[in-house]
Amino acid sequence: MDDCIFCKISAGEIPATVLYEDDDVIAIEDLNPQAPVHALVMPKAHYDNIVDGVPATTLASMVHAVGEVAASTGLSERGFRVIANTGSDAGQTVNHLHLHVLGGTSLGEGLIP
Ligand code: AMP
Ligand code: ZN
Repeated sequence: MDDCIFCKISAGEIPATVLYEDDDVIAIEDLNPQAPVHALVMPKAHYDNIVDGVPATTLASMVHAVGEVAASTGLSERGFRVIANTGSDAGQTVNHLHLHVLGGTSLGEGLIP
């Protein structure tokens, strides 16, 4: 996907603060954090969203990365929230699958971002 910003970040063509990386996935700090810890976990391969025929192995790698990020950022003890905005009603703005990992404060019951 030539014009996909997250493909470019995954390929190292656009800088990002990387929190975790393996062969399948990369986790970065969100540029516009909505919580003290706000990471994005994404596959390196392009999928539009979480229901875009993503292989189970890729989804498993993403969940593994969520755990790694939660541990390394200190979220594991107090808890955190994982969100996958999917499509326009959910406000998805970058059409490359990503999980928001949010925490570091009491998040309440809001559904942002
Ligand atoms: P969504 O609305 O679920 O598609 O979320 C897209 C997220 O990507 C937003 O929280 C943005 O702040 C974040 N974002 C956009 N561009 C970048 C970037 N270059 N580096 C890090 N995060 C980004
Ligand atoms: Zn992409």
